[in-house]
Amino acid sequence: MRVLACDGIDPSAVKRIRDAGHEVVEAKGLAAPDLLTALKGVHGLLVRSATKVTAEVLAGAPDLRVVVRAGTGLDNVDRAAADARGVLVRNTPDANTISVAEITFGMLLALERHLAGAAADLRAGRWEKSKYAGHEIFGRTLGIIGFGRIGREVATRARAFGMPVLAYDELVKKSPAGFDWVRLTDRDTLLREADVVTLHVPLTEGTRHSISTRELGLMKPDAVLVNASRGGVVDETALHAALTSGRLRAAAVDVFEREPAPADHPLLRLPNVLALPHLGASTSEAQRRAGTDAAEALLEAFASLATR
Ligand code: NAD
Repeated sequence: MRVLACDGIDPSAVKRIRDAGHEVVEAKGLAAPDLLTALKGVHGLLVRSATKVTAEVLAGAPDLRVVVRAGTGLDNVDRAAADARGVLVRNTPDANTISVAEITFGMLLALERHLAGAAADLRAGRWEKSKYAGHEIFGRTLGIIGFGRIGREVATRARAFGMPVLAYDELVKKSPAGFDWVRLTDRDTLLREADVVTLHVPLTEGTRHSISTRELGLMKPDAVLVNASRGGVVDETALHAALTSGRLRAAAVDVFEREPAPADHPLLRLPNVLALPHLGASTSEAQRRAGTDAAEALLEAFASLATR
């Protein structure tokens, strides 16, 4: 089979697929129409986030049988169009879990200890000790919305930090094995009681803007919000209003409704916001894992096609 590997897929994935006897062509920065040209005679497509596998791309690639996204979710793949054409779609749901759980605490600690501002000041020659008094996270209640793979890894780390944990998940109604120390609750109770609310849900029609004026209004004024899920889960206008009115003390965001976030994005101007350019999965470990998992998913999909 012929495979097009886009977006800088980890070299180990390319090697694994070649070792299995398939031809792999690597490409970066392709958009239609160049992508369509590159897809001629291609049976398997590997992408990360940059390549957009739209209905138009799928329609223009009649040989394509399998699309694999190395990452969580399928935001850049038109799943319905692929299903309609009988193209198998896979992703690598486990690859980023640890990296996102770790950046959640990286963001929370950076926010509460003003690490970015203090480091930037010191680099500029300013020794600003008194300006940067912060907050501990020990003893503060963490509310996790979305208690799936990442939410549970976040809970495990919160325990080590001495944070009591509340969790809300629309599908998790009793404690998963090993998590009986996490108090499962309804969403409003979580928002009212947590000192730190962290979001780990996918972006769906059910979660879009699910944190908006009403939800932010339920939170303690001294609470903070961490979002390393998807930008559209939070209503950014409502978040900006809550942060500027003093309704909410601070927020850390790794994701935006529109990415890349424009330089004049209102949240980027606020001193009580720590913002990152969607770095959750940007570790060499996660990328390597995503590559390995993507290669295995592609080979399994090819094998399943062969037995049809
Ligand atoms: P997962 O599927 O294991 O867990 C998501 C959980 O959210 C599920 O248990 C599901 O039941 C729950 N859920 C869905 N809709 C809900 C709702 N309306 N209310 C409450 N709970 C709801 O996914 P995961 O691997 O833990 O990843 C979670 C999200 O993290 C991904 O969907 C993705 O958006 C995000 N993510 C971000 C980065 C990053 O770079 N920042 C990287 C990877 C994943």
